Amino acid sequence: MYNTASPLSKWLVHRYRSPWKPPNALASKLWQSVCKTASAIKSCCNFKITQSAPISLRWDHWCNSLSVSEILGNNCYDAIPDLLLNELTSTSSWVFPVNFPSNVRDICEKFSVAADQGQCLLWKQSANVKFNNFIDEFYSNSPNCTWYKLIWPKKYIIKHAVFMWLTVNGGLKTADALKIRNIVVPDLCSLCLLHNETVKHLFFECHYTFAIISKLIPGLNSFLLRPNLMQILDWMHLEFKGKADFKNFYKVVISCALYHIWKERNSRRFGNSAICHTTLLLSIKRNIFDKVMSWKNSWLLLENL
Ligand SMILES: [Zn+2]
Repeated sequence: MYNTASPLSKWLVHRYRSPWKPPNALASKLWQSVCKTASAIKSCCNFKITQSAPISLRWDHWCNSLSVSEILGNNCYDAIPDLLLNELTSTSSWVFPVNFPSNVRDICEKFSVAADQGQCLLWKQSANVKFNNFIDEFYSNSPNCTWYKLIWPKKYIIKHAVFMWLTVNGGLKTADALKIRNIVVPDLCSLCLLHNETVKHLFFECHYTFAIISKLIPGLNSFLLRPNLMQILDWMHLEFKGKADFKNFYKVVISCALYHIWKERNSRRFGNSAICHTTLLLSIKRNIFDKVMSWKNSWLLLENL
C-alpha cells in the first residue's frame, strides 16, 4: 500500500484508507487481520514524507511516530481532513486547500517533504528490510536460547537434528511422558528391558545405547557416570575447542545415533523386530559415512569412527 504503487495498493487505500484506521464491521477478515498486525507493530513502522506518499493525514502516525490527533490531544478525528499527504504536497513543499484547519496546517509545516520518490514506510528507520527482521521482532520477547548452537551444527542432517532438539525439549513420547498424559503404555525400556523408559535413561543411561555412543565417541568412556545428552554436548564443546570440523562432525554423529536409537526403540515397540547394538552401530556408521564423505577433510574425520 505504501511502498509499491499497484492497482491493488490503490484499491486498498481507496477502500480502507490506512491499516491504522479501526476497521469497520464490513471489512473482510483478511483486512481485520492486517489491521491487528499493523497495530501490534506500530512502534516499528516509521514514515518518511515523500511527494507520492499515500500516507493518511488522519490515521497514520507520521508526525515523529505520533498521529495528528495524538499531537492535538483530543481524539476528535472528524476535525482532521481525511486526506492523503500526497494530496497536500507538490515538489517537496506543502500545498493546502482553502479552509484547511490552521492547527493541522501548523503541524504539517513542521515536517519537510523529501524530494525523492523513495519508500515512505520504513521498518525502524530502514528502507532495506529482510524477512529476518520481522522474525527477529516477532521473537524479540522470547528468552535467548543459549544452547541452540549445540543442537544445530553447521552441516546437520535435519531429520536427525530434530530428534536431538526434541530430546532436549522433552518432546519425545517416552513411556514416562505418555504417563503424564494419562496414556498407559509398557513402562520398561524396550532396549534393555531392565529399567523404566525415560529420556534420561534412553540417552544414555541404558547399557544398550551407551554401548553404541561410547563406540562412536570413545572419549565418553572416561566419564565416571553415564552422561546425558547435554553433558555430552557440553563436554564436546570444551574437548574440541578450536577444532570446528571435529565439533561439527561429532554433533552429526550424536544426532545420527539418537535418530537410529529412537527408530530401533519404535521398531521394538511397534514392529516386533529387534537388532543388536553392534548391527545398529554399523547402520549408524554407514549413515554417517554417506553424509560425511562429501565433506572437506572427510578422511581425517572418518578415521575416528
Ligand atoms: Zn534401557
